[in-house]
Amino acid sequence: MVTYKCFFCGRQISSKTLKTRFLCPYCGSKVFFKPRTAIKKIEAV
Ligand SMILES: [Zn+2]
Repeated sequence: MVTYKCFFCGRQISSKTLKTRFLCPYCGSKVFFKPRTAIKKIEAV
């Protein structure tokens, strides 16, 4: 399982949660990054 981190509130969110709704359940942000990799916004290219 992959864990993402919210770009704004810094909470960790599992991919399972994001599968249901790609939205931070804490602050409503839609920008996440993977803590293991470099900070990078997830954007559609
Ligand atoms: Zn958040």
